[in-house]
Amino acid sequence: MAARCSIAFMIMASCLSVVVSGGLPGDLFALSVASKLRVDRNSTARASSDFGRIVAAAPEAVLHPATPAEIAELVRFSASSPSPFPVAPRGQGHSARGQSLAPGGVVVDMRALASRRGRVNVSAGAAPYVDAGGEQLWADVLRATLEHGLAPRVWTDYLRITVAGTLSNAGIGGQAFRHGPQIANVLELDVITGTGDMVTCSRDKDSDLFFAVLGGLGQFGIITRARIGLMPAPKRVRWVRLAYSDVATFTKDQELLISKRASEAGFDYVEGQVQLNRTLTEGPKSTPFFSSSDIGRLAGLASKSVSGVIYVIEGTMYYNESTSTTMDQVYNYDPFVFNRYHVKVLLLSMASKEIMDILLMINVLVSLQKLESILGQLSFEEGFVFTKDVRYVQFLDRVREEERVLRSIGMWDVPHPWLNLFVPRSRILDFDAGVFKGVFAGANPVGVILMYPMNTNMWDDCMMAVASDDDVFYAVGLLRSAAVIGDVERLEKENEAVLAFCHNEDIGCKQYLPYYTSQDGWQRHFGAKWSRVADLKAKYDPHRILSPGQRIFSSPA
Ligand code: FAD
Repeated sequence: MAARCSIAFMIMASCLSVVVSGGLPGDLFALSVASKLRVDRNSTARASSDFGRIVAAAPEAVLHPATPAEIAELVRFSASSPSPFPVAPRGQGHSARGQSLAPGGVVVDMRALASRRGRVNVSAGAAPYVDAGGEQLWADVLRATLEHGLAPRVWTDYLRITVAGTLSNAGIGGQAFRHGPQIANVLELDVITGTGDMVTCSRDKDSDLFFAVLGGLGQFGIITRARIGLMPAPKRVRWVRLAYSDVATFTKDQELLISKRASEAGFDYVEGQVQLNRTLTEGPKSTPFFSSSDIGRLAGLASKSVSGVIYVIEGTMYYNESTSTTMDQVYNYDPFVFNRYHVKVLLLSMASKEIMDILLMINVLVSLQKLESILGQLSFEEGFVFTKDVRYVQFLDRVREEERVLRSIGMWDVPHPWLNLFVPRSRILDFDAGVFKGVFAGANPVGVILMYPMNTNMWDDCMMAVASDDDVFYAVGLLRSAAVIGDVERLEKENEAVLAFCHNEDIGCKQYLPYYTSQDGWQRHFGAKWSRVADLKAKYDPHRILSPGQRIFSSPA
């Protein structure tokens, strides 16, 4: 077994090659699931890499299960075998560092379960929830819940990833400041442990497994169903971006927006981006949000700032209205300033319309006043407010549009040496100075840099996901793509320099979607949680079968 599992993960610079190792136990192919196992090179090659395109390693076989029971059968077999082999559930394979790979073992293609009917069920009662198969894409969960006028509260920026893939990490996005990460909104789970037991767990039942699996990086069990709390879904979204040239003002405003005082009456979603001047001048001339003239104005702002770095708050307000009138129409005279005169004219022109329409219109007006009041508290650069009015679904699925653009120019299926960090509020200005104005000075990163705050008290420390000790921390996503040969090495060096800076300056940041090559790194990452991680691993996956691609524990024993 040791030989079978000693196959190193292959770290690739510019092209992927795949390593195939020795065999699985022969009697595996006598199991009833054997007909669902594929060992042909095409199947194993498809499960050999991921969105990151940096790490590659082939499994021996890929399981295409029709039911959770078939997955349990495979895991039970491995756990009771004299030579246990690794098993990795794979959702969309949208990890960046080989986390869903199973070198020398079996990858479970969770998406195969999605072809079965009835894997998403909505309960629309007083406390509504959805039961979603772990393999479901968030986009499909959204579609199903919207049929009942409902939706989950917290969203990742991209919806073509699976429920269980994000719950294994945390699932963060612009709504998390108010509702916590996605894991904080889970009510119940069906899990297959590393011994092949099928367990339904919650805060009240087998709670140690429930808390372990949420944010547990696939180490303690395979999620086959998640019950997720829902809220009434809004119809429309007022989408606002505000530019800043000063980081202290930017973070002060972001923190105001996520504070309890502002959050009850404020934005429903708060994120932010860091824009480097070279990205604005040498990057795309327009984006699905910014027109080319917007980009030109932002580049002008960046060129005036000493560091060449500017910051953009992204916020949204949800609202409901009639299909015939959007906030853009109300705003039609001056898209940036609430103009009561024009609203009055619009209202008068509607006098002959149905009462219902007018009531709905009042909703729009209330939202506009709310927006005006929020903007009035912020200190963005004068005139640098950009707005859009879109359907709720269009907003949530916004990265799909960017994906289409990137695919069309061949920039989606490229290596993604991403680095995501949680930076404590108390050190975010030091991080900004050392990274954006230090390590990245003169750099030309292709991609997006996210930076937005979350409230630590919305994270449940019983869960395995690691947040921050400060009451507020920033998610910083260095989501860069390798455009040309040599970029991977260059970007990896920059990532290393960022991590070295954080270490040397004792910034106290944690990796999100973490990646460490040694167990020391993992122990530091989990900190006080490490002993619980080790104990629960011994309890729920004693043979260390599950999700070896995370490289937290050594090969199956
Ligand atoms: P995979 O890559 O297939 O698997 C990830 C890990 O989870 C692996 O270790 C795997 O073994 C394990 N796993 C998979 N299925 C199961 C299961 N059923 N049970 C237990 N473990 C399982 N993340 C955010 O939080 N917020 C964002 O806004 C966000 N935006 C993103 C945008 C893009 C374009 C991309 C590519 C990723 C983004 N992510 C974001 C990261 C994403 O949430 C994670 O990479 C996630 O793991 C991807 O889901 P997946 O289905 O592809 O998982």
